[in-house]
Amino acid sequence: MQYDYDDQNIFAKILRGEIPNQTVCENDHALAFNDINPQAPVHVLVIPKGPYVSLDHFAQDASADGQVGFMQLVAEVCRLTDVAGGFRAISNTRTHGVQDVPHYHMHIIGGRQLGRMLHD
Ligand code: 5GP
Repeated sequence: MQYDYDDQNIFAKILRGEIPNQTVCENDHALAFNDINPQAPVHVLVIPKGPYVSLDHFAQDASADGQVGFMQLVAEVCRLTDVAGGFRAISNTRTHGVQDVPHYHMHIIGGRQLGRMLHD
C-alpha cells in the first residue's frame, strides 16, 4: 500500500525542534514525550523519527533496525514511568480509528486503573 506523509504535521515539527516537547527519552530511531493533554498520570507518545503516517505504514516500510529501535524505546518508557501496575498501548489509525496527528505514534497510558477499552 502507498502512504502519503505530510511533513507539516505537529509531530514532524516537534522532531525538527520547531515546537517544544517534554521529552521522556529518545534513541536513534524514536522519540518519547509527554502528551500535551494527558488522559492519565502516565501518558507518553512514542514516535518514530522517520516519516510514517500510521502503524500499518511503519510496519510495512520501516527498516528492521527502525522497528526494533522503536520497540526498545517503548521498553525504556515503561522502565522510566510508573506503569508497574499495567498500561494501555494505543495507536489510533486514520478516520475509523480517530487519528488526529498523521505521524505514527503509540500512546502509552497508565498510572491509574483504566476503564474498558471501547465504549462505542
Ligand atoms: P491521536 O488522536 O492522533 O491518536 O492522538 C494525538 C495526540 O497528540 C493527542 O493525545 C494530543 O493530546 C496530542 N498532541 C497534539 N498536539 C500536541 C503537541 O503539540 N504536543 C504534545 N506533546 N502532544 C500533542
